[in-house]
Amino acid sequence: MTDNVMYDSPNEFMQDVANNRGLCVAQSVLPQEDGTYLVECACETWTTTASSIEEGLRLAKAHTSSAA
Ligand SMILES: [Zn+2]
Repeated sequence: MTDNVMYDSPNEFMQDVANNRGLCVAQSVLPQEDGTYLVECACETWTTTASSIEEGLRLAKAHTSSAA
């Protein structure tokens, strides 16, 4: 089992995405102005929204565990 890296900084996240295009190497849970959280994955094929950071992390983990 590998730990996926979480980033606080969107810039760091985007840098890693650029370096690992198409791979589920990193997920980002970013607060939005409406109080929800945008959840993105480095594979660039998956994004979702969550009502809390915990929900976002759970969704991200479900995504990476379902991706080969
Ligand atoms: Zn992914």
